[in-house]
Amino acid sequence: MKNCIFCKIAKKEMPAEIVYEDKKVISFKDIHPKASIHLLIIPKKHIPSVNHLKLGDKELMGELILTAKKIAQKKKLKGYRLQIHVGRPAGQIVDHLHLHLLSGNYGFGN
Ligand code: AMP
Ligand code: ZN
Repeated sequence: MKNCIFCKIAKKEMPAEIVYEDKKVISFKDIHPKASIHLLIIPKKHIPSVNHLKLGDKELMGELILTAKKIAQKKKLKGYRLQIHVGRPAGQIVDHLHLHLLSGNYGFGN
């Protein structure tokens, strides 16, 4: 979608530190990390949020989570958190669906 920063990253029209990519999914480092490892995993297709998901997106959503698992295993992460913000009141800033993968020092003493 025009003017969407994550679509631009997916199309390589904007720089990002890409850590994984396949046909439908791309993952890159969060520009303002909130843990020692903070990645974003996004569908290349523009979906504004979880609220905009259709039945046909089921497989794609599964792929996002499986991509998180794949990256976590490759990085040998002992544990990690997966987070999705939905809507402004929950802190969603970027209106292109994304999964946060956080690991390491979260600043919560764990
Ligand atoms: P949210 O919409 O609350 O799930 O958060 C969006 C996340 O995207 C924030 O953690 C930002 O730091 C991150 N972010 C925003 N712009 C970029 C960018 N150009 N490259 C990487 N991460 C970004
Ligand atoms: Zn987009």
